Amino acid sequence: MAEFTLELNDDQKQVRDWIHGFAADVMRPAAAEWDEREETPWPVIQEAAKLGIYSLDFYAQQFFDPTGLGIPMAMEELFWGDAGIGLSIAGTGLAAVGVLANGTEEQIGTWIPQMYGDASDVKVAAFCSSEPDAGSDVSAMRTRAVYDEAKDEWVLNGTKTWATNGGIANVHVVVALVDPELGSKGHASFIVPPATEGLSQGQKFKKHGIRASHTAEVVLENVRVPGHCLLGGKEKLDERLARARERARKGGER
Ligand SMILES: Cc1cc2nc3c(=O)[nH]c(=O)nc-3n(C[C@H](O)[C@H](O)[C@H](O)COP(=O)(O)OP(=O)(O)OC[C@H]3O[C@@H](n4cnc5c(N)ncnc54)[C@H](O)[C@@H]3O)c2cc1C
Repeated sequence: MAEFTLELNDDQKQVRDWIHGFAADVMRPAAAEWDEREETPWPVIQEAAKLGIYSLDFYAQQFFDPTGLGIPMAMEELFWGDAGIGLSIAGTGLAAVGVLANGTEEQIGTWIPQMYGDASDVKVAAFCSSEPDAGSDVSAMRTRAVYDEAKDEWVLNGTKTWATNGGIANVHVVVALVDPELGSKGHASFIVPPATEGLSQGQKFKKHGIRASHTAEVVLENVRVPGHCLLGGKEKLDERLARARERARKGGER
């Protein structure tokens, strides 16, 4: 087994210097303006997209770096540039990881490109898990997803809070309860495609820092998404719920 080290190799140093250059030359000069405007710095994200820093490829390369240092190294440089702009650039990655972790290959191929857009038309995505009474305590989550079998649609209702890019995202990934009796084992994640009716932005938060990153509530009122928007698919969800019910029935750990 390779010895653990925090020493960067030559390739990593090159990437670090490249991001550092972007942080120093593009992010820092723009930081005060966007912090005061408290708005998403679209031109800076576009610049990052042109260079390839705002893209799934870049994120995936760092994510799959076998030393594990790729993501912390990239985040350290971006957030050195500015925490708000850094989160505006990194926020889409939260939603993309949600799809990478739970989605089918088809879902990954369909939705992740729509999360980033391209350099001529950049988009952002939002990962919506936290709720007013459920932050760290995900078992307290209340947002519900109910399956309408006749239409093969899921109906989402609830309020999410503190969502980075919430309401301004092209694609939202929403975590919801599909079986309340199973608590934290009864969750599933859903894609809410662009311009879906019933999803709206609630209050946008005024923060004490990280202000160039948009943080808002996301309100879901009878939001209907097609069956194929359930990440991982229905069969896998049904199997997982059946296992959880079985464990609960036996009185084991839920
Ligand atoms: C700028 C910003 C962006 C965000 N973006 C997103 C986003 O994109 N999507 C999203 O879903 N959420 C987002 N969040 C929400 C964030 O993930 C939550 O704030 C976080 O999950 C903590 O939840 P909470 O604020 O309710 O704190 P709480 O859950 O109330 O926790 C408060 C404190 O208590 C501690 N604590 C909690 N439970 C226990 C326990 N059982 N034992 C010991 N200690 C405990 C916690 O560690 C913490 O220190 C964002 C928040 C911020 C500030």
